[in-house]
Amino acid sequence: EQAHERYRNRNPLSLAQHQKAAKVMPGGNTRTVLFSDPFPITLVCSQGCQVTSIDGDTYIDYLGEFTAGLYGHSDPVIRQAVVDALDSGWVRGGHIPQEETLASLICSRFPSVEMVRFTNSGTEANLYAISTACAVTGRSKVMVFEGGYHGGVLMFGATPSPIVAPYEFVRAPYNDWEGTEALLRANADDLACVLIEPMQGSAGCIVAEPAFLQAIRDWTTANDVVLIFDEVMTSRLSGGGLQQLHGITPDMTTLGKYIGGGFSFGAFGGRQDLMQIYDPLQPGYVAHAGTFNNNVFTMSAGAAGLSQVYTQEAATALNQRGDVLRTRLNRIAQNAPFPMQFTGIGSLMNVHMTSEPVRSIRDLTHSNAVLRDLFYFELLEQNIWPTRRGMLNLSLPMGDTEFDALARAVQRFVDQYGRLF
Ligand code: PLP
Repeated sequence: EQAHERYRNRNPLSLAQHQKAAKVMPGGNTRTVLFSDPFPITLVCSQGCQVTSIDGDTYIDYLGEFTAGLYGHSDPVIRQAVVDALDSGWVRGGHIPQEETLASLICSRFPSVEMVRFTNSGTEANLYAISTACAVTGRSKVMVFEGGYHGGVLMFGATPSPIVAPYEFVRAPYNDWEGTEALLRANADDLACVLIEPMQGSAGCIVAEPAFLQAIRDWTTANDVVLIFDEVMTSRLSGGGLQQLHGITPDMTTLGKYIGGGFSFGAFGGRQDLMQIYDPLQPGYVAHAGTFNNNVFTMSAGAAGLSQVYTQEAATALNQRGDVLRTRLNRIAQNAPFPMQFTGIGSLMNVHMTSEPVRSIRDLTHSNAVLRDLFYFELLEQNIWPTRRGMLNLSLPMGDTEFDALARAVQRFVDQYGRLF
């Protein structure tokens, strides 16, 4: 209650803005994930790794547009690419050279991606990847995992919702090979594909054990089931995604988020023989459309970003810094008088208010939700912009100043609430 009151007092203009927005958009927003009670803060501008609210406060941006904000807000190389795109006109309705540049960059970086096609979102990329698997195998069922997230209209029955994925599916337990294998066997005749995040992002940076991923890889290869890695969030965790880091190559990969340089983006790609069904010169080819699939801003910003900014070396460096930061935060957490830990890999991490190992969403049942909420409000008070669920994402413009500020804020949270819990 006190945290809410301080929040209300600090953000009166955001409240007024929210009240206006709520008249024309249910809940005052168009992205549920950005709603935060009692009302969300409105942002009016952003620079580097900072965002500024309508109430005049500046925050260090650890939300990082849910991983799409990897480049920060004003990268000069990307800016120039966008300005050049602006100058050359932007509703083209034809192929553009940057399209091939970005596709080539992606194919050279991600081991499984021999050919790629673009979409406008990660959700759409997953829809197409699953449909590709169904088309190629002639089977219709998808295996997904408890806690998995693959996009807004792709809800696989985790929570009651009238929005349900338009596929038959079976949900397997994450990081539990025995349980997963039993379901694979039981569904083998109907399974078109297995769709898995090699680290569950939205569930709270729950890391897959490489042996679990490898076992799935081996089984799907032996049984001719298409293995799809949803690397929409994890593609940034090395130059070639988690598939490169673990040395496990899926049949297909879906991408999104930062790869569009900060613009709407999605892509699905994989083995040439699978992707070839989209070649209009093939008999019985499958059509794949989308007015903005190759829009000049995304293609130009994405190509500039991957070729000049987020190079393989930059990816390695950022993720190493993330590992160092997470270790530092975990040291603070270990000394807290309540259970707390930071999970994740490299530049993506998530706080959990439990000291038990987090191997699946089931391990979060006993995480203290009140403490996690207080963590959110405390960080905001310390001018850190976190996600409500405790995910913290690094961006390229961040340096020691930003990491020190986060560590200080976490320490203050521990000092503040250690007495109460
Ligand atoms: N897949 C994963 C793993 C995601 O984290 C997300 C978004 O958070 C998506 C798919 C959906 O991407 P988009 O929001 O671009 O549709």
